Amino acid sequence: MALIVQKYGGSSVGDAEKIKNVARRVAQTKDKGNDVVVVVSAMGDTTDELIKLAYQINERPDERELDMLLSTGEIISCTLLAMALEAMGYEAISLSGAQAGIRTDAVYSRARIQKVDPERVTRELEKGNIVIVAGFQGITDEMDVTTLGRGGSDTTAVALAVSLGAEVCQIYTDVEGIFTADPRIVPQAKKLSEIGYEEMLELATYGAKVTHPRAVELGELFNVPILVASSFTDSPGTLIHGGVSMEVRNKVKGIAHDLDVAKITVVGVPDHPGIAASIFEPLAKANISIDTIVQNASINKITDLTFTVAKSHLAKAMEVVKPIAQSIGASECVSAAKLGKVSIIGTGMQNTPGYAARMFGTLSEKGINIELITTSEIRITCIIDEAKVKDAVQALHRAFELEG
Ligand code: ASP
Ligand code: MG
Repeated sequence: MALIVQKYGGSSVGDAEKIKNVARRVAQTKDKGNDVVVVVSAMGDTTDELIKLAYQINERPDERELDMLLSTGEIISCTLLAMALEAMGYEAISLSGAQAGIRTDAVYSRARIQKVDPERVTRELEKGNIVIVAGFQGITDEMDVTTLGRGGSDTTAVALAVSLGAEVCQIYTDVEGIFTADPRIVPQAKKLSEIGYEEMLELATYGAKVTHPRAVELGELFNVPILVASSFTDSPGTLIHGGVSMEVRNKVKGIAHDLDVAKITVVGVPDHPGIAASIFEPLAKANISIDTIVQNASINKITDLTFTVAKSHLAKAMEVVKPIAQSIGASECVSAAKLGKVSIIGTGMQNTPGYAARMFGTLSEKGINIELITTSEIRITCIIDEAKVKDAVQALHRAFELEG
């Protein structure tokens, strides 16, 4: 008998029928003799709707109140799932994040889990219950409810799997697993049967929306395998784990893309110590996360500094940077909003020449201009025109022979 943690996303619990479908799947897992802990997201677009509602009431909703409000979305789905299981004759109990022992810091809207006290969950499992936990939320030392950031239920699930010593954390969603590229853009994209943590982390961070990067990070840290599979079919899904074989590692694993990119260039920056700090510290204080940063080699002690932000942060970032640019004597501050990024990812790229050249060559054949380039040991990312992203993903998928 194993202990299994399953997580069902918002689209999998979108209405009463879907909740009943999830209940049947949970029951099957229980019937096989497993102990089952289930983490759920809020139904459908509930979280978005609650945010909208809050802003209709107050343009600057208090962050504590907002977290308390958003946590109710997952409370609804976890209670309904417990009721569905009870209607089928199974013993089930729903627990809020707080009741399940998810302890977090007090950073509202993006709290981090500090520890999990799993006693209550363990006790309920010992009684024979299926335990349904509200995802995306926790509680501070002061007993205030927090949320973990958008998409945070994956993190709840992996954290519970870690603290309970579960055999696997199964994340059920509306797609069949991790693909070599987004199948909506590349119909020939192939589902991967397995992928390493590192590669998955890069894919998730650089645009593959299927799993939350923090959940993958946590899985890697504690070596808990994560299965990503569909809640609507019985297809086997993709296993994210640490023991991926050498041969499978030796190539580009997948192409990620992200359409949410805007860039800001501070032109004619005097090049001396402290300049970068004077620009990026205020941005950090304003809570704007910066993605790529490129500084040109300076000519005559003058340089350009370019960085990218999410499109939704562009206006705020420009507001912060413009006065600084002026005060440090830069000549101007320009922005472009219609960008996207495309990345090739794979541990096989490590220490192997030729991948960058092939990527750039492929984009150039398509007449796609590269605005910025960033790399990690296992990733190369190009920032390009938003309108060319689809073309780029398709061409790269072909160039790196991912069609199989
Ligand atoms: N309901 C939350 C959100 O939509 C958390 C989650 O779905 O994982 O972001
Ligand atoms: Mg959701």
